[in-house]
Amino acid sequence: MKTKFLLGIFLIALGLRPAASASAQDLGAQFKKIKDGIFLYKGKGSESNCAIILTEDGVVLIDSGNSPTDSVAVMQALKRLTDKPVRFLINTEPHADHTTGHFVFSPPAVIVAAAGAGDSMRKAYDAERVKKMMADPEIGPAAKGYRQIVPHVEYQDKMTLASGERAFQLFYLKNVHSEADSAIWLPKERVLFAAASVGVKRFNNLRPFVSIPDTLAAIKMMRALGPEVVIPGHGEPGSVEILDNMERYYNLLLERVRQMVQQGKSLQEIKKELKMPEYADWEGKDRFPNNIEAAYRAVKAN
Ligand SMILES: [Zn+2]
Repeated sequence: MKTKFLLGIFLIALGLRPAASASAQDLGAQFKKIKDGIFLYKGKGSESNCAIILTEDGVVLIDSGNSPTDSVAVMQALKRLTDKPVRFLINTEPHADHTTGHFVFSPPAVIVAAAGAGDSMRKAYDAERVKKMMADPEIGPAAKGYRQIVPHVEYQDKMTLASGERAFQLFYLKNVHSEADSAIWLPKERVLFAAASVGVKRFNNLRPFVSIPDTLAAIKMMRALGPEVVIPGHGEPGSVEILDNMERYYNLLLERVRQMVQQGKSLQEIKKELKMPEYADWEGKDRFPNNIEAAYRAVKAN
């Protein structure tokens, strides 16, 4: 006991720390410990989240941070947690705020995403944006060596990935946010990464292909897994309440839009008249009109 204590003092005096001894607070203000060996780098404000999951056979990352500065902060943190390499990097979605930092981890990380993620990334590649990023005094230094790295493995529908003692179940989420969204479920740890299918007190950007009924089906599927912790693509982690709140909002929105359609109102009239005071404290109000459009498409379809 005493020798162990003295050895500890000795290592600290040398500035050495045994691997995995760093606490979330030691890692920096953005880090939260979710469970043993599972750390979240919570995006600043509403920026994207990134998770570090330690396994016996190496690190598994979920997304790579909002921008290269975040990716570098994650890389520095994981070096304090383990000396094992990043083995897999699983993408919740292909958008730049989840994938630009891939080059920081890969190689050696093998990047895994739902089918269509690579095509989506290649199509969205914007040389001007990259030029701006490299010239940015804050992001530029971290972006040094940037190149776009698309997923090495794409799966259809479902996939199970194993690393050491942990299993990761990937589920393709259809039409919830991007062209290739994945929920990631750790069944033993009961931790669910819900991607951008749900927001936290925030209206999601519902692009023309996004379907509210498909999103409600995804929420139902994810809740049936029985998660203890739910980690959205953006925003604070929480419980299954994150899923419940989003479901309640979409159901109420559908109900109100349906009533107005039944009253013979046009989409333009609905957009002008519909108010949802229950959600006055939600962010992203500029997206409310496209939420109404999505609800209108759903009501008209059946
Ligand atoms: Zn996105």
